[in-house]
Amino acid sequence: MRGTMKLIMGNMFAGKTTELITRIDIMRKHGRKKVLILKPSIDTRSGAGKIKNFHGRAMDAIEIPINHAKSVLQAVHEEELRVGNKFDVIAIDEVQFFTFRSGIYRIINELLENEYDVIAAGLRLDFRGEPFGSTLDLVGLCEGMHNVTLLSSFCTMCGKPAHLPQRLIDGDPAPYESTQIQVGGKESYEARCYECHKLPGRPSVQ
Ligand SMILES: [Zn+2]
Repeated sequence: MRGTMKLIMGNMFAGKTTELITRIDIMRKHGRKKVLILKPSIDTRSGAGKIKNFHGRAMDAIEIPINHAKSVLQAVHEEELRVGNKFDVIAIDEVQFFTFRSGIYRIINELLENEYDVIAAGLRLDFRGEPFGSTLDLVGLCEGMHNVTLLSSFCTMCGKPAHLPQRLIDGDPAPYESTQIQVGGKESYEARCYECHKLPGRPSVQ
């Protein structure tokens, strides 16, 4: 039987990884499910080979190169050989780093066809308030909105519900033209509401 896709998406500082870790815990402890955790190798915040929430709770994860999502299938196969049994669930954190072009949509579909359940967590929107990677595409693999969880945080400026990540470079709002994924540099992020989110240089709609 085809597996089930579940998606946890939302803003930064909204507890996506905490939600993922909690669900993995419950599946492992109470559902006796074998869960394999994957993450993009670009995510260095959590440390090598781990997913980690802001409370410091960590779980082991296999790293997948972002431009080669096909490695997901290889990683599942290799880990099954290593541990000697089939996994029930494949969990993927920071799924936004896989673009549609990486093939992640078709690869997750393949996992579902091969009877794995898949649970993925990712940022819905980037610092521009625009779709980040394949996160929103993956709604297409969910069988109903009950399988989609949308998490928001609170605005650091005014306390209202915050749906947008504010990127700051040396403390100032990053311009629209800066790259979607910035590695290194003195950047930081805050959760902001639509009113408090600042995006200098945003082009007008033609
Ligand atoms: Zn605000």
